[in-house]
Amino acid sequence: AYDVLVVGGGPAGAAAAIYAARKGIRTGVVAERFGGQVSDTMAIENFISVKATDGPKLVAGLEQHVLDYDVDLMKTQKAVRVEKKELVEVELENGAVLKSKSVILATGARWREMNVPGEQEYKTKGVAYCPHCDGPLFKGKKTAVIGGGNSGIEAAIDLAGIVEHVTVLEFGDTLRADDVLVKKAESLSNVTIIKNAMTTEVLGDGERVTGLQYTDRKTDESHKLDVAGIFVQIGLVPNSEFLQDTLELTDRGEIVIDSHGRTSMEGVFAAGDVTNVPFKQIIISMGAGATAALGAFDHLIRN
Ligand code: FAD
Repeated sequence: AYDVLVVGGGPAGAAAAIYAARKGIRTGVVAERFGGQVSDTMAIENFISVKATDGPKLVAGLEQHVLDYDVDLMKTQKAVRVEKKELVEVELENGAVLKSKSVILATGARWREMNVPGEQEYKTKGVAYCPHCDGPLFKGKKTAVIGGGNSGIEAAIDLAGIVEHVTVLEFGDTLRADDVLVKKAESLSNVTIIKNAMTTEVLGDGERVTGLQYTDRKTDESHKLDVAGIFVQIGLVPNSEFLQDTLELTDRGEIVIDSHGRTSMEGVFAAGDVTNVPFKQIIISMGAGATAALGAFDHLIRN
């Protein structure tokens, strides 16, 4: 059996594994796709002390650092069940059951996509999901934000300070964001909000995004908007489906943790984007992974 078994191989899982292994305890990592969301990232400019890097480089660094320690790294393995018996059991898709005194869940999240033509083609070429990450890449340019919920309106306010102009496209006839955010956005001279707008296509020149096409759902008319960047803000979905009915989750499916990374199941900790931590970033996930590993170690020495 393991002392600490980490599920997930993104920044949170990698940090948790390194912190656990450095305690000299038996550590394993199960990851469906080592690297997580970072694998899909081009420019990373907010990983403090590294001025600029990219996803594949950071993933290689994470893996090297993890493998510097005595860690069982099980790549391309998916966990499908977690259960507390005498030990915590983690069942994999291939039927194997791993046992551990403690488990750290770091399965991350994924951005909900628009599923329109051009979105996949222009990902990281103008189609973006994280304003904190990619906002500065569109300095002085026109951008669109898809989605008028809290994250969409926050993104619009954030981007308005950097880019030339922001157009928010909301599918419904009202914005779902908090009133104070809506008022703030409406007060900004370089923010336009369009409701009843269904984005139908991402337009580009083969290299980069040049605009988008949307349909006014009231009139059925199609319109073209010239923008260099499109921030899709229609939801971040935690990878916690396999934990439903086992752990306390928020109504959005995020694992509820306390300040030590503890979940509602004894001996089970969680970290990173899959949890109810308020902000989702690489450096924040790494810190959370370290917290969860130290929390798990504390649990082990007390039990
Ligand atoms: P993830 O990175 O999502 O990793 C989750 C891990 O769990 C993966 O290994 C996954 O395969 C695995 N997993 C999931 N389910 C299972 C399962 N059932 N069994 C086993 N393994 C499983 N943040 C920044 O700070 N700066 C940036 O510039 C930046 N740019 C970004 C650009 C893009 C395009 C995206 C998508 C995100 C960006 N982010 C950025 C956000 C950042 O990538 C995330 O906050 C961070 O990766 C979260 O780390 P995590 O370890 O919690 O989860």
